[in-house]
Amino acid sequence: MMQAPFRIALLPGDGIGPEVVSEAVKVLQALEEVLGATFRFQTGLIGGAALDQTALPLPPETISICNSAQAVLLGAVGGPQWDSKRPEVRPEQGLLQLRQRLGLFVNLRPAKVLESLVNLSALKPDRVRGTDLVIVRELLGGIYFGNPRGIFARNGERMGVNTEVYREHEIERVAHRAFVLARTRRNKVTSVDKANVLESSRLWREVVKRVALSYPDVELDHMYVDACAMRLIENPTSFDVVLTTNLFGDILSDEAAMLTGSIGLLPSASLGEHSALYEPIHGSAPSIAGRKRANPIAAIASAAMMMRYSFRKEDVADAMETAIERVLKRGVRTPDLPGRKRPLTTSRVGDLVAAETCKLLRHATSKKPSRRRK
Ligand code: NAD
Repeated sequence: MMQAPFRIALLPGDGIGPEVVSEAVKVLQALEEVLGATFRFQTGLIGGAALDQTALPLPPETISICNSAQAVLLGAVGGPQWDSKRPEVRPEQGLLQLRQRLGLFVNLRPAKVLESLVNLSALKPDRVRGTDLVIVRELLGGIYFGNPRGIFARNGERMGVNTEVYREHEIERVAHRAFVLARTRRNKVTSVDKANVLESSRLWREVVKRVALSYPDVELDHMYVDACAMRLIENPTSFDVVLTTNLFGDILSDEAAMLTGSIGLLPSASLGEHSALYEPIHGSAPSIAGRKRANPIAAIASAAMMMRYSFRKEDVADAMETAIERVLKRGVRTPDLPGRKRPLTTSRVGDLVAAETCKLLRHATSKKPSRRRK
């Protein structure tokens, strides 16, 4: 029997966003036959593209498309043409608003150093070889959202104020996600805070310890954020799952991305109770937009995360990720990655990953014992 379609909202956005999203769609569509399932896509406007057409970075129609989908795949937003027009309304606001509207409280950012690309890292190969970690960042709380905030005048001088606030339930729900994730990996969580200085971090640490009691099989350690920033450079292979707050996660996830040295390869997932948004970590790369030079792998890897977390298709996600590793190992490269005299176009890389994923899944299906009919 044919499975119900997977319903996906597509928000291509700006710059290279539409180019890389269409390669992810290509890969998913190529899988329909072997999966015996279909994907139903609905496309919405966001960012600069939405500003141009509707004067809003996140139009109501886009919100309703996202609400009726099971998952959202986003390209990227922003570009210089929107920087000067109306600086008070920016494309990036569309993305921030969407995360809030969908209640996406946890952000997962994997950083894996592939052997075939180990030389791209800013660090020596021997130091980064084997790095395979995920940053689990709390996304809806902390200093980015706490009140009071603002610039106030007092005693004839202005002062800027932001407030870090964490409620117990906000820490608990993100901590559970980190421990559950660790169980699918190497059973280790490093919780990162600044408990020697901040009260909010002291509560963070206490609640994480409490949540850990439900996961006795997962090892937990705690690290101050400054020590973690150093350790990521010194010994990145010592990390498995890194659980942290909104602000610290923002910074550490970019640091971790740089260990791999390849912004065009890295995916992300932002998850809530009922919604999920998947997007490459890169921006809209305006200088290469429309030139067939964009690397589509981060977008395809984001679609793989979607298959894993939204559709519970671990085998499909694994096949997509293995396909990416295999084509890179064969030397397939877009121009952002060194190592090939004549790099391939965005669309050609998408074709190769699609073909390799289908091959892997067909092989896996042909090896499964067929079910006996009653
Ligand atoms: P960027 O990620 O767009 O580009 C940084 C560098 O990496 C550039 O040299 C670019 O050409 C290259 N690059 C990025 N993705 C690539 C890919 N897939 N293939 C090949 N090369 C790639 O960051 P930026 O230049 O700081 O920002 C450009 C615009 O994107 C800005 O308007 C910024 O606000 C926006 N932005 C959006 C997001 C998002 O949508 N989540 C994230 C970051 C930046």
